[in-house]
Amino acid sequence: ACKDLLNRSRREKSTAESPCNGSAARPGPPAIVEGIEGCIGNTPLFRIKSLSDETGCEILAKAEFLNGAGQSSKDRVALSMIEMAEEQGILTPHSGDTIYEGTSGSTGISLATLARAKGYLAHICMPSDQAIEKSNLLLKLGAIVDRVPPAPIVEKDNFVNRARALAQAQTASSSADPTQSVVGSNDRTKSGRGFFADQFENEANWRAHYLGTGPEVYAQCDGQLDAFVAGAGTGGTIAGVARFLKPLLPKLTVVLADPQGSGLYNRVRYGVMFDLREREGTRRRRQIDTIVEGIGINRVTANFEAGKELVDDAVRVTDAQALAMARWLVEKDGIFIGSSSAVNCFAAVKIAMKLGPGHRIVTVLSDSGSRHLSRFWAKAGDVGGAVDTRLEDVLKV
Ligand code: PMP
Repeated sequence: ACKDLLNRSRREKSTAESPCNGSAARPGPPAIVEGIEGCIGNTPLFRIKSLSDETGCEILAKAEFLNGAGQSSKDRVALSMIEMAEEQGILTPHSGDTIYEGTSGSTGISLATLARAKGYLAHICMPSDQAIEKSNLLLKLGAIVDRVPPAPIVEKDNFVNRARALAQAQTASSSADPTQSVVGSNDRTKSGRGFFADQFENEANWRAHYLGTGPEVYAQCDGQLDAFVAGAGTGGTIAGVARFLKPLLPKLTVVLADPQGSGLYNRVRYGVMFDLREREGTRRRRQIDTIVEGIGINRVTANFEAGKELVDDAVRVTDAQALAMARWLVEKDGIFIGSSSAVNCFAAVKIAMKLGPGHRIVTVLSDSGSRHLSRFWAKAGDVGGAVDTRLEDVLKV
């Protein structure tokens, strides 16, 4: 009986102390927080087992799809932009103010979620070729959604320009006649001001990563990392993290993971932004030709500008390579991610091979594959049952 008691007490002790107690493998329950905003940030950093074992490097992933409001890295940015606007008196909760944004979807979803939490309306403009589940989700959140035909930034109808113009029009009409209302396409009344969040140019974007993502990565790695790899949609993630980490780790290699068709790769590698969209005989600037959503751009935004001198290297990743990597991560690790995360992981492997075994590389998993079922994952197909893909096959694609 004595032995039994001793064993029981040992078992209870180890359950209480173990970071892996019962079904939860994450160490320590987080404290109680205030509202859904409190569920943003402090995301786990985990070792991607297959890629680390294969490359001899430690490839670590920041699980940004676990941000609790809109379930992507954009939660940090949306909260930062809203809080800055509130501090400046541009937005007032529960006043009928509307947040406008041009977005490939993730930022819109984070803004629409936080708009609900804080008492604003959200009006989101996004290119119509982005995955339909993102605009469906926005509608469920009660946002007004404009799906606009894809058009380059120089054109009036571009999704970003449209969001800006609508915000300006609302602010003008509300200040001209405060009693006048503008009726949204889903019949809700917009009576307040219009705020254009402007994630591409708004510096509250990179600052969110400078104050959050960067310090978290540094702490989670105990200051030990050799490379940071991320794509750029607005440039906020790579700029904010690089600005935080580089002064502390001057030898850190910051790498841009760039999808096919984006001009940033050439900007980083050769210092020139070649316009890859200009074809013989036409001056018309085209959209980037890729199925990857959220990253890749053909201009230097204020947010990329904020960190562009800190980016040391770039890896170009084709759609086929991103698809192969996304399938690999499901097959080997049970990690189901979106297209931009697949680009990041492919580039992380390339950098691991360049640096050689023994290095630690951190990358970002911006959102989940469930945001990409109808487009990216429709192309990736189902991952088979009995599988024995080799990493060299993924890299050969
Ligand atoms: N992945 C996804 C899915 C995104 O929506 C975005 C932002 N557009 C990014 C990555 C890129 O992040 P950033 O804007 O900070 O460059």
